[in-house]
Formats: sequence, structure tokens, C-alpha cells
Amino acid sequence: AKAEGRNTYIFFSSEMVEELEQKLEVEKLLLECVKNRGFKLLYQPQVCSRTGRVHSFEALIRIKDSNISPAKFIPIAEESGMIIDIGYFVLEEAVKQIRDWIDRNVDVKPIGVNVSAVQLRDENFTRRVIEIINKYNIDPSLIKLEITESALMEDKERNIEIIKGLKEKGIQIAIDDFGTGYSSLNYLTFIPADYIKIDKSFIDKMFADEGKKQVLDGVTFLAHKLNLKVVVEGIEDREQFKYLKSMGCDFMQGYLFSKPVEKEEAEKLCSYIFKE
Ligand code: C2E
Ligand code: CA
Ligand code: CA
Ligand code: CA
Repeated sequence: AKAEGRNTYIFFSSEMVEELEQKLEVEKLLLECVKNRGFKLLYQPQVCSRTGRVHSFEALIRIKDSNISPAKFIPIAEESGMIIDIGYFVLEEAVKQIRDWIDRNVDVKPIGVNVSAVQLRDENFTRRVIEIINKYNIDPSLIKLEITESALMEDKERNIEIIKGLKEKGIQIAIDDFGTGYSSLNYLTFIPADYIKIDKSFIDKMFADEGKKQVLDGVTFLAHKLNLKVVVEGIEDREQFKYLKSMGCDFMQGYLFSKPVEKEEAEKLCSYIFKE
């Protein structure tokens, strides 16, 4: 127990100690990875619902030789501020990958890069993003920044300005994890994005919950009215594909087509066509 002021004691349970130890361990590992380029990217394709062709990829970070999931280490990277450096690393790797595909005459596809709320707070964010894209001389529209709905809501006015600035430079924007926050649909009309990505949790419950279907239908309708393309993630079976296609969802991502794969594998997937 630790004394805090007079007469007050805070007791740590063994679970709390264990959790703290785990967190410190991950933090140490992350620090090492930042220093020694211990991260790599996997790529997961997004398929066009109409043609079945691969339309783009999402870059997903991994720690080399480790199976700690980003769902676990990204929040720790955010708390410690390391996400800033990690974020620029991820962007640069994706941009380099596009450069490499162009140089080798591969049928190049846009790459989506996840951006954390913490990164948006960095004053130099837009400038740095442009610098990285210019360094490798690629078309900015080949990069799609995925910003979560909840990150956007953290500082709405400011983040809308940031997105406007990025869009002016030609960078594409996706609103990620749509449907997990509490924002009203109304705010979609203010954000100059290109895509909304509807969260997997939504798709999972779709067939069990008539209400979810209705909302999905409504969101797709509204998104199209606002000139936004709809991406759905977590597609695992043909029934989901068929239904979401008939609903007008434009692009799909999920294990039905491919899990996230190494760059060599991703390159082969550029010519993949999904047959219904
Ligand atoms: P996300 O952005 O929602 O990414 C989609 C996640 O769903 C990925 O998990 C992907 O592998 C997984 N997924 C895709 N299709 C399916 C499917 O059909 N079934 C199932 N069960 N899962 C599917 P992953 O790679 O573990 O990433 C988890 C989260 O970590 C991401 O969720 C994102 O929030 C975060 N993340 C990953 N890479 C980065 C990064 O470079 N930067 C930041 N800031 N966050 C990242
Ligand atoms: Ca994402
Ligand atoms: Ca997502
Ligand atoms: Ca998600």
C-alpha cells in the first residue's frame, strides 16, 4: 500500500499490479521498436462490391516477431505519446510501398493509413504528412487517411479544418469505425470526407438485429446523398457480402477476401477478383 497524504491509503490488488507490469513491458517493447525499426505493415485488400476487384488496401501495423495485437499496443503508444513517431513511420512505409509499386510497374492501388486522435493534436501534422508524400513524389490521392469517428469528435471544429487542409492537397479521407461513437448523423454533412467505414461490430449483429439493418440502410442512403462512398469491414461470409451489396455498400473488407498479408502477398492480390 502506498501512503497518499494523511490517513489515506491506496491499495493495489494483485491484478492491478499485474496489469501495470504488463503495460510497462509493452511500453518498453514499443520504445525498442521505435528505436530499431521493429514494426512492419501488413496490408488487407478492399474489394469493389460491383466488380469484385481490389480497389485499395488498408495498412495495419504489427510488431515484428510478436503477436501482440495493435488493439492492445496502440492505446499504450497513444498514452505515452510514441504514437506520433509510430504514425509517421506507418505513413512513410505506406508511401514507400506505393513508390516501389510505381517504379516496378505494379498496378498500384491506394493505401489507407490509420491516424490516431493523438496524432491530430500535433501542430505539424498536415505539414509532415505533405512532406512525406512529396519526398517520394507520389500522387497524394493514393493515400487515404482513416480517422475514427471518435477522434474527430474530440475537437470537432479544429479537426474539420485539418481535414479540409488535407483534402485541399488531394489526400483522401475515410471516417473509420463509424457507428461506434455517439455522434449524430448530422455531422456527416460538415466533414469533407470521401469514405465512411462502417464498423465490424455493426456487421456482426446485422442479421440478428432488424434495427441494425435499418440503420445501415439509412446510413448508406444518407452517405450517398452526401457523395460519400461506403466501406464495410469485417465481411466474413457470402451472405453478408450479398446483403450489403444489395444495400448499395460500395467497398468491402474482410476475411472473406483476405486477411491482412505481407507486402509480397498484397502485390499478388492486386489482380485478385472476387467471384460471388
Ligand atoms: P481497424 O482500423 O478497425 O482495423 C480493422 C481491424 O479488423 C484489423 O485488426 C483487421 O485485421 C481486422 N479485420 C479485418 N477483417 C476482419 C474480419 O473479417 N474478421 C475479423 N475478425 N477481423 C477483421 P488489427 O490489424 O488487429 O488492428 C486493430 C486495430 O488497431 C485497428 O482497427 C486500428 O484501430 C488499430 N491499428 C492498426 N494499425 C494501426 C496503425 O498503423 N495506426 C493506428 N493509429 N492504429 C492502428
Ligand atoms: Ca482502420
Ligand atoms: Ca475500422
Ligand atoms: Ca474497427
